[in-house]
Amino acid sequence: MHLSDVYADRFGLSFEMFPPKTPAGDEALRVELARLAEYDPAFVSCTYGAGGSTRDRTLDWCRELKSDFGQNVTAHFTCVGSATGDMAEWLDAAQEAGVSNIMALRGDLPEGGPDDAPWQPPAGGFRYANELVAFVRERFPEFGVGVAGYPEKHPECGDPETDLANLKRKVDAGADAVFTQLFFENDHFLRFRDACGEIGVDVPIVPGVMPVTDFARIKRITAMCGSTFPRKFSAALEAVKDDPVGQFEIGVDWAVNQCRGLMEEGVPGMHFYVLNKAAATEQILDGMNLAPVRA
Ligand SMILES: Cc1cc2nc3c(=O)[nH]c(=O)nc-3n(C[C@H](O)[C@H](O)[C@H](O)COP(=O)(O)OP(=O)(O)OC[C@H]3O[C@@H](n4cnc5c(N)ncnc54)[C@H](O)[C@@H]3O)c2cc1C
Repeated sequence: MHLSDVYADRFGLSFEMFPPKTPAGDEALRVELARLAEYDPAFVSCTYGAGGSTRDRTLDWCRELKSDFGQNVTAHFTCVGSATGDMAEWLDAAQEAGVSNIMALRGDLPEGGPDDAPWQPPAGGFRYANELVAFVRERFPEFGVGVAGYPEKHPECGDPETDLANLKRKVDAGADAVFTQLFFENDHFLRFRDACGEIGVDVPIVPGVMPVTDFARIKRITAMCGSTFPRKFSAALEAVKDDPVGQFEIGVDWAVNQCRGLMEEGVPGMHFYVLNKAAATEQILDGMNLAPVRA
């Protein structure tokens, strides 16, 4: 299903996974995906590893999501690591794999030492995601296109207004929906949504939700992506930092409250960063009464 149809007449639930590094990881993910499939997601998306590190694995997983799990598939794809010739080749392969939508991203920049020159796109490649959106729109009009948005601003950008103007470039280039970076306070999302409306970003804005189940891991992720932890939440997690069950319970509880609040605000859907595990997302969806209706 094309992204422009996903939110037209239903609440669009989506799950994001990443390609595991080992065959054992693949096996474990299949079990988790079968559980998540019960919630009838509008689509499942598969990430594209930093710098193109999962170029083939992402396609393999998209193929499997489509053929074995019968899912509507969104493939993430990044500018970092590709020239335009490679991009067209990869997007052709994605189409053959049955992918319906592309999450068009710049990608995180490769880490460099202090003396390294700033990142340059490869010859014939793109510097920003809006160029990739335009490329997909022009060369692969059958794909729906999603883009990333940042309620707390992208960490590289100096101010929220400029970052929003850059988001608008992606929507003006043809994006069908915006998927946000994770956030732990709904006010960040609601302010961002209002600001998007004010500058004419008129596509669905879908909140990204990451259940916290492992505080140390999520702290590393948020340090990279610039999302902030509310003091109350981090204090509660800090207090149980050596207790995995306690962390899971606090994380799920927080996410249930956050998601209830987002539902009351009439969000068009939710995009769960499931980190290849079903349990937390299942509990959150059950807590929100979005559990599957079983015969
Ligand atoms: C839903 C979601 C999924 C993601 N999936 C992946 C994934 O699969 N693989 C991966 O590697 N990363 C992924 N990321 C992370 C993402 O790649 C990084 O956040 C990256 O640093 C920025 O990507 P972008 O597409 O937002 O870039 P852009 O929109 O290009 O923005 C990057 C920076 O440049 C600025 N900017 C944008 N356009 C212009 C312009 N025309 N002129 C000047 N400045 C500009 C922006 O303000 C921003 O600071 C994902 C993020 C989200 C929210």
